[in-house]
Amino acid sequence: MAHIIDGKKIALCTRNQIKKEAEEFKKLGINPTLSVVLVGDNRASKSYVNAKHKACLENGINSIKIELPENTTEEELLLEINKLNNDDSINGILIQLPLPKHINSDTVLEKISPIKDVDGFHPVNIGKLSVGKADLIPCTPLGILELIKSTNINIEGKNALVIGRSNIVGKPIANLLIHENATVTIAHSKTINLKNLIANSDIIVSCVGIAHFLGDNYSYKEDSLIIDVGNNYKNDKLVGDVDFDFVKEKVKYISPVPGGVGPMTITMLMRNTLTALRKQIK
Ligand code: NAP
Repeated sequence: MAHIIDGKKIALCTRNQIKKEAEEFKKLGINPTLSVVLVGDNRASKSYVNAKHKACLENGINSIKIELPENTTEEELLLEINKLNNDDSINGILIQLPLPKHINSDTVLEKISPIKDVDGFHPVNIGKLSVGKADLIPCTPLGILELIKSTNINIEGKNALVIGRSNIVGKPIANLLIHENATVTIAHSKTINLKNLIANSDIIVSCVGIAHFLGDNYSYKEDSLIIDVGNNYKNDKLVGDVDFDFVKEKVKYISPVPGGVGPMTITMLMRNTLTALRKQIK
């Protein structure tokens, strides 16, 4: 049976470290602060924002929630971001996605100052990531890399397969793995030889968003490692892209859902807030 990569435990360890670093800043009279902006009444978004707020407060990071009504115009939102950009007491800015349909997300994300962009979605930060000079890296991919590293496997030279090419997970984790010297393949819905790719991969990161996409329909390398990023619901139960009970008997390392990537994402958001603060102090 595979070694289970315990995201909860790894996240807790990292959070303890974050708490200590936040305390060090406070001793210097600096209060690390994240501002999260929510537009509208999307229930799922509200609960994500509340979870981020709670995690920050528990770990010594000041959190400011800004809740704007659904009918906020793009211009009003841009003005709000401008205020946060110019406010020296705010170190990180996160705009909760998705935004209401009448607001262009790209325009909004580009308005955030790159040194306060704790989600790492600003084109400047995406560009830095692609040339291997990133400091503010999207939170989920950053958390995935931490999970892979927690196993102490040697990433260099390994065949890594990323299934999914979204801007928020697939592409950035592929970039991070390239910079770790893995040989990276990105698969997507038009890929025709997924069976062969899976059978030859040492590291598989699945970010497809289809419940139990990887199961007994594929064969896996015995010593491979699988990170399951999927957050899907099956019969009202949260499940990943991977049929955990089947695949855990076939590979060497596996991350579960829940309890794998999920707990790492908010943890990396807090780490990015401290990274942003350090950049601002410089
Ligand atoms: P997305 O934007 O919908 O991207 C899904 C990707 O999967 C696309 O690139 C798509 O290919 C590919 N795909 C779809 N069907 C496929 C198939 N049959 N074979 C191969 N590739 C296929 O999703 P996302 O935003 O990256 O999120 C992916 C999953 O991760 C979701 O379940 C999401 O909830 C979860 N997630 C979790 C966290 C966390 O913190 N735990 C954070 C972010 C996302 P095309 O590009 O060709 O369409």
